[in-house]
Amino acid sequence: MSDINSVIHAGPQFNSKASKRMHVMAKPIGAACNLDCDYCYYLSKENLLEYKKGCTPQLDDQKLEKFVRDYIEGQNSLQIIFSWQGGEATMLGISYFEKVVELQRKYQPEGVTISNDLQTNGTLLNDQWCEFLKKNNFLVGLSIDGPELLHNTYRTNKAGRGTFKQVMRAVDLLHKHEVKFATLTCVNNLTSRNPLEVYRFLRDVVKSPQMQFIPIVEMKTFRETAPNTWDISDRLMQGDKRLIPGHKDSVVEPFCVSDHAWGNFLITVFNEWICNDVGTVFVQYFEAFLEAWMGNRNPLCTLGEMCGKGLAMEPNGDVYTCDHYVYPEYKIGNIAETALEKMALSPKQQQFGTAKSKSLPKQCQECDYKFACFGECPKNRFIKTRDGEDGLNYLCAGWNKFYKHADAGFAFTLRQLGLPVAHGKHSDKILTEKQILPVNNA
Ligand code: SF4
Ligand code: SF4
Repeated sequence: MSDINSVIHAGPQFNSKASKRMHVMAKPIGAACNLDCDYCYYLSKENLLEYKKGCTPQLDDQKLEKFVRDYIEGQNSLQIIFSWQGGEATMLGISYFEKVVELQRKYQPEGVTISNDLQTNGTLLNDQWCEFLKKNNFLVGLSIDGPELLHNTYRTNKAGRGTFKQVMRAVDLLHKHEVKFATLTCVNNLTSRNPLEVYRFLRDVVKSPQMQFIPIVEMKTFRETAPNTWDISDRLMQGDKRLIPGHKDSVVEPFCVSDHAWGNFLITVFNEWICNDVGTVFVQYFEAFLEAWMGNRNPLCTLGEMCGKGLAMEPNGDVYTCDHYVYPEYKIGNIAETALEKMALSPKQQQFGTAKSKSLPKQCQECDYKFACFGECPKNRFIKTRDGEDGLNYLCAGWNKFYKHADAGFAFTLRQLGLPVAHGKHSDKILTEKQILPVNNA
């Protein structure tokens, strides 16, 4: 399973009188899934959250109605986005989502648009599903990891067979019914080594309307240990060989992307995109970085200044600080007992949100690309800087390599579009200073 929504929605981090917005990733079927992808960070929640053996959890009618009403009433924005994820939420059937849409209509305030995102592995989609998704204007996030061999290595069904053919059938159906969709591609130890094959496949075969790439980073302890509760004595220094996936003593799962492979993947895709595809192919990261280079807030939560706006809700109504923090330590309440708005504004949630910036090590504070990165997602900050300071991001070396490489390209693209360049080594300010210098010296 991958994550469309923790990264897709923009908006202020905390509600204010002027703007009340929040985002909840609802998991109405919890971790239940018809597939068994190796790196799904969510399947293990079945044990962690103590779902009863053999029973498929489900957000029941009462809690569903409470959630829909609370979520709408807790916001004053003109657009409200519901996000549905699993496990595999399509296992609930079309009728469940018909009920969702009905409830949304029941509580929809005048003048407010309500829309829905649905994250899926695509294997259960058929004509009826696509008709429903089209009719109700759902945005679908489809997990696909690249050409057949690459996709089938980790994205398997319960019998261990690859799911490529079913997913490609879903691609055809989504196009046929003109359903809005984005592709979510996990960058793992294998896809990271084949960036052009993956990118060109998504561009030319899948004809992805928007490409989202997700670096796979999982510590070997991730099933039982919540992020940021790691044992400090276990933390390794940037550059330590035990941070390499596949190393005999590695602390990360073998399917993870390494820091350098992540940087190389982004650089190769970027080169292809900037030479051939600007304006015709949408790569979510690159669009977001153009915003950051322009001086706007990065719309991706992983690269923003604060966390805390995207809550996650389990089928029993339990609400957590973030989709990546569904661990007992990060529970902030239950929908049956507390209003969503109250949970979103709770001190625990606010503290979680601001910790992202407050806990940045000096290396990030002084980094030339802090404006675009902000130390990336805290769930990946489990290594030490070369000076021995805690809290550095596992992917830092890759991110940094990419930022240095793409800096001039982002500045060039913005200038071509007649837009300002607020940051980076080629910013308008630096350029102006360079142009002025000879005059001043004369
Ligand atoms: S921990 Fe923060 S940056 Fe990471 S996914 Fe959650 S909200 Fe986004
Ligand atoms: S590139 Fe590295 S040092 Fe710079 S902000 Fe990102 S994680 Fe921190």
